[in-house]
Amino acid sequence: MQSTFDPAADKAEPTLAREGTIWMCGACGKTGKDRDVMGDTSCRTWAVLVEENSIVRDETGRAISASAVNDPVAELTW
Ligand SMILES: [Zn+2]
Repeated sequence: MQSTFDPAADKAEPTLAREGTIWMCGACGKTGKDRDVMGDTSCRTWAVLVEENSIVRDETGRAISASAVNDPVAELTW
């Protein structure tokens, strides 16, 4: 008998970022707590969950780098 268990389906990312994390658009750097309402369609497509306190911003407030939650070694930079 074949197993129908699909680990990927079980771990579907919730759209609301949990405490200490935030969604960030990998294309433009826009951030939001709820992936469903942040930015435009491309922002939601490129959204990556990042550690909120890892976000580095430039003097205009624009996010320039952050660490991804699911991949601590990955450094996102813009
Ligand atoms: Zn964006």
